[in-house]
Amino acid sequence: MQDGATQLPEDWERSVPEPNYAIELTPPDIEPYRPGNTGIDYVTTFDSGIAGPHVLVTALTHGNEICGAIALDRFFRAGLRPRQGKLTLAFDNAAAYGNFDPRVPTASRFVDEDFNRLWSPATLDGPRQSTELARARELRAIVDAADFLLDIHSMQYATAPLMLAGTLQRSVALARQVGIPELIMCDAGHAAGPRMRDYGGFGDPASSKTALLIESGQHWERRAAEVGTDVMLRFLVVLGTLTEEDAAPLGGPDFPSRPRQRIIQVTEAVTITGERFEFVKDYRGLEVLPKKGTLIGRDDGREVRTPYDDCVLIMPSRRLAKGQTAVRLGRYAE
Ligand SMILES: [Zn+2]
Repeated sequence: MQDGATQLPEDWERSVPEPNYAIELTPPDIEPYRPGNTGIDYVTTFDSGIAGPHVLVTALTHGNEICGAIALDRFFRAGLRPRQGKLTLAFDNAAAYGNFDPRVPTASRFVDEDFNRLWSPATLDGPRQSTELARARELRAIVDAADFLLDIHSMQYATAPLMLAGTLQRSVALARQVGIPELIMCDAGHAAGPRMRDYGGFGDPASSKTALLIESGQHWERRAAEVGTDVMLRFLVVLGTLTEEDAAPLGGPDFPSRPRQRIIQVTEAVTITGERFEFVKDYRGLEVLPKKGTLIGRDDGREVRTPYDDCVLIMPSRRLAKGQTAVRLGRYAE
Protein backbone atom coordinates (compact mmCIF):
# COMPACT_ATOMS: atom_id res chain seq x y z
CA MET A 1 0.00 0.00 0.00
CA GLN A 2 1.17 3.52 -0.75
CA ASP A 3 0.24 5.26 2.49
CA GLY A 4 1.78 2.75 4.87
CA ALA A 5 3.13 5.47 7.12
CA THR A 6 -0.24 6.66 8.31
CA GLN A 7 -2.69 3.83 7.73
CA LEU A 8 -2.31 0.44 9.34
CA PRO A 9 -2.64 -2.58 7.06
CA GLU A 10 -5.68 -4.76 7.44
CA ASP A 11 -5.53 -7.18 10.38
CA TRP A 12 -2.71 -5.21 11.89
CA GLU A 13 -2.41 -5.70 15.64
CA ARG A 14 -6.12 -6.05 15.82
CA SER A 15 -6.62 -7.48 19.24
CA VAL A 16 -3.59 -6.69 21.36
CA PRO A 17 -2.94 -3.16 22.63
CA GLU A 18 0.25 -1.41 21.70
CA PRO A 19 2.77 -1.26 24.57
CA ASN A 20 4.00 2.25 25.05
CA TYR A 21 7.70 2.13 24.25
CA ALA A 22 9.67 5.35 23.94
CA ILE A 23 11.48 5.76 20.62
CA GLU A 24 15.09 6.10 21.74
CA LEU A 25 16.67 5.44 18.34
CA THR A 26 16.95 7.89 15.47
CA PRO A 27 16.63 6.31 12.04
CA PRO A 28 19.80 7.11 10.09
CA ASP A 29 19.71 8.64 6.61
CA ILE A 30 20.54 5.75 4.27
CA GLU A 31 20.20 7.79 1.08
CA PRO A 32 24.02 8.10 0.81
CA TYR A 33 24.13 4.30 0.53
CA ARG A 34 21.56 4.05 -2.27
CA PRO A 35 24.06 4.06 -5.19
CA GLY A 36 26.24 1.34 -3.64
CA ASN A 37 28.68 -0.27 -6.07
CA THR A 38 26.93 -3.46 -7.15
CA GLY A 39 24.27 -2.17 -9.54
CA ILE A 40 21.65 -2.92 -6.88
CA ASP A 41 20.36 -0.01 -4.80
CA TYR A 42 21.50 0.01 -1.16
CA VAL A 43 23.97 -2.85 -1.65
CA THR A 44 27.72 -2.28 -1.27
CA THR A 45 30.45 -4.89 -1.64
CA PHE A 46 34.00 -4.42 -0.36
CA ASP A 47 36.53 -6.82 -1.86
CA SER A 48 39.78 -7.23 0.07
CA GLY A 49 41.49 -8.84 -2.92
CA ILE A 50 42.65 -11.60 -0.55
CA ALA A 51 41.13 -15.10 -0.48
CA GLY A 52 38.44 -15.57 2.13
CA PRO A 53 34.71 -15.96 2.62
CA HIS A 54 32.06 -13.68 1.16
CA VAL A 55 30.20 -12.34 4.18
CA LEU A 56 26.80 -10.63 3.89
CA VAL A 57 25.30 -8.45 6.63
CA THR A 58 21.74 -7.26 6.07
CA ALA A 59 19.55 -4.69 7.82
CA LEU A 60 15.96 -3.50 7.38
CA THR A 61 14.60 -6.89 6.31
CA HIS A 62 11.72 -5.37 8.27
CA GLY A 63 11.54 -1.66 7.54
CA ASN A 64 10.79 -0.56 11.10
CA GLU A 65 13.72 -2.44 12.71
CA ILE A 66 16.15 0.43 12.66
CA CYS A 67 18.91 -1.01 14.87
CA GLY A 68 20.39 -2.84 11.86
CA ALA A 69 20.47 0.34 9.78
CA ILE A 70 22.30 2.02 12.66
CA ALA A 71 24.85 -0.83 12.80
CA LEU A 72 25.57 -0.63 9.06
CA ASP A 73 25.70 3.18 9.14
CA ARG A 74 28.29 2.99 11.95
CA PHE A 75 30.33 0.51 9.94
CA PHE A 76 30.33 2.74 6.85
CA ARG A 77 31.16 5.87 8.84
CA ALA A 78 34.09 4.15 10.54
CA GLY A 79 35.58 3.40 7.11
CA LEU A 80 36.26 -0.24 7.96
CA ARG A 81 37.19 -2.67 5.20
CA PRO A 82 37.45 -6.47 5.12
CA ARG A 83 40.88 -7.95 5.90
CA GLN A 84 40.12 -10.98 3.75
CA GLY A 85 37.42 -12.17 1.38
CA LYS A 86 34.47 -9.95 0.55
CA LEU A 87 31.98 -8.11 2.68
CA THR A 88 28.58 -7.04 1.38
CA LEU A 89 26.33 -4.70 3.35
CA ALA A 90 22.69 -4.45 2.29
CA PHE A 91 19.66 -2.44 3.41
CA ASP A 92 16.92 -4.87 2.39
CA ASN A 93 13.57 -3.12 2.55
CA ALA A 94 14.51 0.51 1.99
CA ALA A 95 11.04 1.20 0.55
CA ALA A 96 9.34 0.27 3.83
CA TYR A 97 11.99 2.09 5.84
CA GLY A 98 11.25 5.21 3.80
CA ASN A 99 7.75 5.15 5.29
CA PHE A 100 9.03 5.08 8.88
CA ASP A 101 7.04 7.47 11.03
CA PRO A 102 7.81 7.69 14.76
CA ARG A 103 4.11 8.39 15.42
CA VAL A 104 3.15 4.99 13.92
CA PRO A 105 6.43 3.13 14.22
CA THR A 106 5.04 -0.36 13.62
CA ALA A 107 3.41 0.52 10.29
CA SER A 108 6.61 0.47 8.25
CA ARG A 109 7.42 -3.23 8.75
CA PHE A 110 6.73 -3.73 5.04
CA VAL A 111 4.96 -2.10 2.10
CA ASP A 112 2.89 -4.99 0.66
CA GLU A 113 3.98 -8.13 2.48
CA ASP A 114 6.63 -9.56 4.79
CA PHE A 115 9.98 -9.63 2.93
CA ASN A 116 11.11 -12.43 5.22
CA ARG A 117 8.47 -14.99 4.15
CA LEU A 118 9.33 -15.05 0.43
CA TRP A 119 12.55 -17.06 0.35
CA SER A 120 11.68 -20.19 -1.59
CA PRO A 121 12.49 -20.73 -5.27
CA ALA A 122 8.79 -21.35 -5.94
CA THR A 123 7.86 -17.90 -4.63
CA LEU A 124 10.86 -16.06 -6.05
CA ASP A 125 10.42 -17.66 -9.50
CA GLY A 126 6.62 -17.47 -9.35
CA PRO A 127 4.29 -15.00 -11.07
CA ARG A 128 3.26 -12.98 -8.02
CA GLN A 129 4.29 -9.31 -7.82
CA SER A 130 4.77 -7.05 -4.80
CA THR A 131 7.17 -4.40 -3.63
CA GLU A 132 8.92 -6.94 -1.40
CA LEU A 133 9.03 -9.67 -4.04
CA ALA A 134 10.64 -7.28 -6.52
CA ARG A 135 13.25 -6.40 -3.92
CA ALA A 136 13.87 -10.04 -2.94
CA ARG A 137 14.36 -10.90 -6.62
CA GLU A 138 16.92 -8.07 -6.88
CA LEU A 139 18.81 -9.27 -3.83
CA ARG A 140 18.68 -12.96 -4.64
CA ALA A 141 22.00 -13.06 -6.53
CA ILE A 142 23.73 -11.43 -3.55
CA VAL A 143 22.24 -13.95 -1.12
CA ASP A 144 23.21 -16.77 -3.51
CA ALA A 145 26.81 -15.49 -3.65
CA ALA A 146 27.33 -15.15 0.11
CA ASP A 147 29.01 -17.84 2.21
CA PHE A 148 27.85 -16.34 5.51
CA LEU A 149 24.84 -14.19 6.37
CA LEU A 150 23.96 -12.13 9.42
CA ASP A 151 20.47 -10.60 9.25
CA ILE A 152 19.90 -7.92 11.90
CA HIS A 153 16.38 -7.59 13.37
CA SER A 154 14.58 -6.32 16.46
CA MET A 155 11.40 -7.35 18.30
CA GLN A 156 8.00 -5.98 19.34
CA TYR A 157 8.49 -6.57 23.06
CA ALA A 158 11.40 -5.63 25.29
CA THR A 159 12.85 -9.03 26.15
CA ALA A 160 16.37 -10.45 26.13
CA PRO A 161 18.01 -10.53 22.68
CA LEU A 162 17.78 -13.83 20.78
CA MET A 163 20.07 -15.37 18.19
CA LEU A 164 17.97 -17.36 15.72
CA ALA A 165 20.22 -20.17 14.54
CA GLY A 166 17.75 -22.26 12.56
CA THR A 167 17.95 -26.04 12.74
CA LEU A 168 21.51 -26.76 11.58
CA GLN A 169 24.36 -27.56 13.96
CA ARG A 170 26.87 -25.44 12.05
CA SER A 171 24.73 -22.36 12.67
CA VAL A 172 24.55 -23.13 16.39
CA ALA A 173 28.33 -23.57 16.44
CA LEU A 174 28.78 -20.17 14.77
CA ALA A 175 26.37 -18.56 17.26
CA ARG A 176 28.54 -19.96 20.07
CA GLN A 177 31.68 -18.59 18.46
CA VAL A 178 30.07 -15.16 18.19
CA GLY A 179 29.46 -15.57 21.93
CA ILE A 180 26.55 -13.16 22.37
CA PRO A 181 23.68 -12.95 23.11
CA GLU A 182 23.07 -15.37 25.96
CA LEU A 183 20.07 -17.00 24.28
CA ILE A 184 20.35 -19.05 21.08
CA MET A 185 17.09 -20.22 19.60
CA CYS A 186 16.92 -23.18 17.21
CA ASP A 187 13.82 -23.03 15.06
CA ALA A 188 12.48 -23.94 11.63
CA GLY A 189 10.74 -20.64 10.86
CA HIS A 190 7.16 -19.89 9.86
CA ALA A 191 4.35 -21.64 8.02
CA ALA A 192 3.71 -18.37 6.16
CA GLY A 193 6.96 -18.86 4.20
CA PRO A 194 10.73 -19.30 4.49
CA ARG A 195 13.02 -16.59 5.81
CA MET A 196 16.10 -15.33 3.99
CA ARG A 197 18.22 -17.03 6.66
CA ASP A 198 16.74 -20.41 5.65
CA TYR A 199 17.04 -19.89 1.88
CA GLY A 200 19.09 -22.14 -0.43
CA GLY A 201 22.39 -23.37 1.00
CA PHE A 202 21.74 -21.60 4.31
CA GLY A 203 19.08 -24.19 5.10
CA ASP A 204 20.75 -27.14 3.40
CA PRO A 205 22.47 -29.71 5.63
CA ALA A 206 24.81 -30.61 2.73
CA SER A 207 26.03 -27.02 2.21
CA SER A 208 28.62 -25.11 4.24
CA LYS A 209 26.81 -21.78 3.86
CA THR A 210 25.85 -20.53 7.32
CA ALA A 211 23.32 -17.92 8.41
CA LEU A 212 22.35 -16.27 11.67
CA LEU A 213 19.53 -13.88 12.50
CA ILE A 214 19.85 -11.62 15.52
CA GLU A 215 16.79 -10.25 17.32
CA SER A 216 18.62 -7.41 19.01
CA GLY A 217 15.95 -6.28 21.49
CA GLN A 218 12.90 -4.03 21.36
CA HIS A 219 12.54 -2.05 18.12
CA TRP A 220 13.08 1.39 19.58
CA GLU A 221 15.40 0.82 22.53
CA ARG A 222 18.92 2.23 22.51
CA ARG A 223 20.23 -1.12 23.66
CA ALA A 224 19.03 -2.81 20.45
CA ALA A 225 21.45 -0.73 18.39
CA GLU A 226 24.31 -1.68 20.74
CA VAL A 227 23.45 -5.38 20.57
CA GLY A 228 22.99 -5.32 16.77
CA THR A 229 26.32 -3.56 16.33
CA ASP A 230 28.21 -5.80 18.78
CA VAL A 231 26.83 -8.98 17.21
CA MET A 232 27.75 -7.74 13.72
CA LEU A 233 31.30 -6.87 14.81
CA ARG A 234 31.86 -10.16 16.61
CA PHE A 235 30.41 -12.10 13.66
CA LEU A 236 32.91 -10.33 11.38
CA VAL A 237 35.83 -10.99 13.75
CA VAL A 238 34.97 -14.71 14.02
CA LEU A 239 34.93 -14.99 10.22
CA GLY A 240 38.24 -13.14 9.85
CA THR A 241 36.64 -10.22 7.99
CA LEU A 242 37.77 -7.83 10.74
CA THR A 243 40.38 -8.06 13.45
CA GLU A 244 39.49 -7.54 17.10
CA GLU A 245 41.41 -4.24 16.94
CA ASP A 246 39.36 -3.08 13.94
CA ALA A 247 36.10 -3.89 15.68
CA ALA A 248 36.62 -2.87 19.31
CA PRO A 249 36.37 0.94 18.85
CA LEU A 250 32.83 0.55 17.44
CA GLY A 251 31.71 -1.89 20.13
CA GLY A 252 29.32 -1.04 22.97
CA PRO A 253 30.06 -1.38 26.71
CA ASP A 254 29.44 -5.14 26.61
CA PHE A 255 31.49 -5.80 23.48
CA PRO A 256 34.09 -7.98 25.25
CA SER A 257 31.58 -9.93 27.39
CA ARG A 258 31.49 -13.73 27.39
CA PRO A 259 28.16 -14.77 28.92
CA ARG A 260 27.15 -18.38 29.41
CA GLN A 261 24.98 -19.13 26.39
CA ARG A 262 21.80 -21.20 26.60
CA ILE A 263 19.89 -22.92 23.83
CA ILE A 264 16.15 -22.86 23.40
CA GLN A 265 14.94 -25.66 21.16
CA VAL A 266 11.76 -24.58 19.41
CA THR A 267 9.38 -27.50 18.96
CA GLU A 268 6.56 -25.78 17.15
CA ALA A 269 5.20 -22.54 15.83
CA VAL A 270 1.56 -21.86 16.68
CA THR A 271 0.12 -20.85 13.30
CA ILE A 272 -3.23 -19.05 13.37
CA THR A 273 -5.92 -21.02 11.53
CA GLY A 274 -9.03 -19.05 12.49
CA GLU A 275 -10.36 -15.54 11.98
CA ARG A 276 -9.77 -14.48 15.55
CA PHE A 277 -6.83 -15.45 17.77
CA GLU A 278 -6.51 -14.22 21.34
CA PHE A 279 -3.92 -14.85 24.02
CA VAL A 280 -5.33 -15.40 27.50
CA LYS A 281 -2.64 -13.14 28.99
CA ASP A 282 -0.51 -10.23 27.85
CA TYR A 283 2.54 -12.40 27.14
CA ARG A 284 5.78 -10.62 26.25
CA GLY A 285 8.04 -13.57 25.45
CA LEU A 286 10.42 -15.88 27.32
CA GLU A 287 7.80 -16.74 29.95
CA VAL A 288 8.34 -20.32 31.18
CA LEU A 289 5.02 -22.07 31.90
CA PRO A 290 5.70 -24.90 34.34
CA LYS A 291 2.63 -27.10 33.74
CA LYS A 292 1.88 -29.05 30.56
CA GLY A 293 -1.62 -28.22 29.29
CA THR A 294 -1.63 -24.58 30.41
CA LEU A 295 -4.08 -22.58 28.32
CA ILE A 296 -2.26 -19.82 26.42
CA GLY A 297 -4.75 -18.73 23.78
CA ARG A 298 -7.85 -19.38 21.70
CA ASP A 299 -7.92 -19.67 17.92
CA ASP A 300 -11.55 -19.13 16.89
CA GLY A 301 -12.42 -20.56 20.30
CA ARG A 302 -10.17 -23.61 19.88
CA GLU A 303 -7.97 -23.86 22.96
CA VAL A 304 -4.20 -23.66 22.48
CA ARG A 305 -2.36 -25.29 25.38
CA THR A 306 1.29 -25.90 26.20
CA PRO A 307 2.43 -29.36 25.03
CA TYR A 308 4.88 -30.06 27.87
CA ASP A 309 6.13 -28.85 31.26
CA ASP A 310 8.44 -25.82 31.39
CA CYS A 311 7.31 -24.58 28.00
CA VAL A 312 8.97 -21.32 26.88
CA LEU A 313 6.88 -18.79 24.93
CA ILE A 314 8.94 -17.11 22.23
CA MET A 315 8.12 -13.82 20.53
CA PRO A 316 4.33 -13.71 20.93
CA SER A 317 3.04 -11.58 18.07
CA ARG A 318 0.66 -8.68 18.03
CA ARG A 319 -0.03 -9.31 14.33
CA LEU A 320 -2.66 -11.94 14.96
CA ALA A 321 -3.83 -12.69 11.43
CA LYS A 322 -4.80 -16.01 9.87
CA GLY A 323 -1.80 -17.93 8.50
CA GLN A 324 0.69 -16.01 10.64
CA THR A 325 2.68 -17.26 13.61
CA ALA A 326 1.06 -16.31 16.92
CA VAL A 327 3.93 -17.57 19.10
CA ARG A 328 6.64 -20.19 19.06
CA LEU A 329 6.97 -22.83 21.77
CA GLY A 330 10.20 -24.33 22.98
CA ARG A 331 12.24 -25.54 25.90
CA TYR A 332 15.69 -24.92 27.28
CA ALA A 333 17.98 -27.61 25.89
CA GLU A 334 20.86 -26.68 28.20
ZN1 LIG B 1 12.29 -8.58 11.98
